Amino acid sequence: KIKQIAIYGKGGIGKSTTTSNLSAALSIAGYKVMQFGCDPKSDSTNTLRGGKYIPTVLDTLREKSSVKAHEVIFEGFNGIYCVEAGGPAPGVGCAGRGIITAVQLFKQQKVFEELDLDYVIYDVLGDVVCGGFAVPVREGIAEHVFTVSSADFMAIYAANNLMKGIKKYSNSGGALLGGVIANSINAPYAKEIIDDFVEQTGTQVVEYVPRSVTVTQSELQGKTTIEALPDSKQAAIYKSLAEKIDHHTESRVPTPLEISELREWAAKWGDYLLALETGEVRTEAVG
Ligand code: ATP
Ligand code: MG
Repeated sequence: KIKQIAIYGKGGIGKSTTTSNLSAALSIAGYKVMQFGCDPKSDSTNTLRGGKYIPTVLDTLREKSSVKAHEVIFEGFNGIYCVEAGGPAPGVGCAGRGIITAVQLFKQQKVFEELDLDYVIYDVLGDVVCGGFAVPVREGIAEHVFTVSSADFMAIYAANNLMKGIKKYSNSGGALLGGVIANSINAPYAKEIIDDFVEQTGTQVVEYVPRSVTVTQSELQGKTTIEALPDSKQAAIYKSLAEKIDHHTESRVPTPLEISELREWAAKWGDYLLALETGEVRTEAVG
């Protein structure tokens, strides 16, 4: 049975990197995977395709009235199917329209069934779950939602907002939360912060992914770490993430914090970080 997963997170937090490595790892494990970029920037699948952009669903539809799904599906690393929903010209129209349009097109043409996919992974920019960006959650298209977050307050704020969206749609068939993929976790305090946040919000950390220069090196070659440096420690971490997501079955309704609670929570951690910085508290660096 096909498993559909949506990866959300704040802009620039590492969604596309994580999603592409996850797709690559699942594909290497033998699964048929489609990566569905839902970012108007349409660069989600770049590292699966040698750094190259593919035409988006919206762009293709603008050029011709009738589009066959296979015209907007491109082969990437290890046979991964790559799709970019695309977006409107900046400042014109709803940024989420590409997702709605692309999902409808694929539904009409029964693409997922025909390709006999094991996984569809949506890479979705959107800390606020509104409009088209809500589609994978709201319509229950994705069964499981994961959010990429670092220990930075803005990333956690975005993750908390996503949780609010999930909670809201959960009683009308919306997707539920699988957990948090903790990205750029190198210092012990970063792990403590994320651990505390998931505890507060009734969810879990699926994997701790450190910041690694292997990611940058691979990206410069237009590749995922899985492809460029398959024997690296970082690649092993992405494989472990893929395994956990593969075994994941039960997603939950999260318990997001109210904005005042979130501020208090952040202030408490802020005091702690300040104490670390001024040397009043000490911890050892990881690794
Ligand atoms: P956007 O919202 O712009 O689509 P994004 O959330 O998809 O961004 P990415 O493009 O995946 O984020 O990552 C942003 C930058 O951070 C990239 O240059 C990427 O190489 C780097 N990056 C992400 N995760 C890691 C990591 N674990 N180690 C090192 N670099 C990372
Ligand atoms: Mg991205």
